[in-house]
Amino acid sequence: MRKKVIAGNWKMYKDVNESIEFVKELVLKQNNIPDNVDVIICTPFTSLYAVSQIVKDSKIMLGAQNMFYEDLGAYTGEISPLMLKSTGCKYVILGHSERRTYFGETDDIVNKKVKKAIEKDLTPIMCIGETLQERESGITNQIVEKQVRGGLNGLSPEEISKIIIAYEPVWAIGTGKTATPAQAQDVHKFIRDLISKISNDKVASNLIIQYGGSMKPENAKELLSQPDIDGGLIGGACLKVDSFYGIITA
Ligand code: PEP
Repeated sequence: MRKKVIAGNWKMYKDVNESIEFVKELVLKQNNIPDNVDVIICTPFTSLYAVSQIVKDSKIMLGAQNMFYEDLGAYTGEISPLMLKSTGCKYVILGHSERRTYFGETDDIVNKKVKKAIEKDLTPIMCIGETLQERESGITNQIVEKQVRGGLNGLSPEEISKIIIAYEPVWAIGTGKTATPAQAQDVHKFIRDLISKISNDKVASNLIIQYGGSMKPENAKELLSQPDIDGGLIGGACLKVDSFYGIITA
């Protein structure tokens, strides 16, 4: 039985003080987090260490929103997986559509990052998803397949078993438009079947596949009750404790 994994992506919001305030409030509610739910908060780099000090003995886990694929070196402005680990971080979002759109991340770059994260024992949350134009052209599955195959290129089944995939239709991110539970379920099932082909049935049936795209307390329950939706990657609705907590308890 797969757990539900709820991850909040703060994007470029919250300074250090705001981050501390948020997690203190969330930790106070942690006893109501169901045992079958994992909660991850992905903060900006600048808040990771401060937040890790507050969540370290709690049920809440820490993630970053990006990293570079080298251990160290002359890469001005970049952050390595080892640096992330030194803050107490255990997860890292990779290939978010905003990284692909604004920072030119390709499947090849995402693949290098996914490999490096696994090598360093960080769990990658690899994001994939089609644009509105791609959906309307009827090529959603082709796009998703290309991103999954590209991002996981060269990974063994054992390595694939260490990742989380987040299906995030680009047209639903930050737009208030959510995929219907049936639309999301169709793509999640497609992804699970694809993982079965590129690894094996066991890896596919244990794989956590999150949905992301305007998830909020009002629509979370229906989305999360689909058989192949194992959690959510939340943007806008994770910025307030009440709405994030509303999704966790949904
Ligand atoms: C995201 O950024 O991953 C996301 C899903 O954003 P939102 O929930 O705001 O659509």
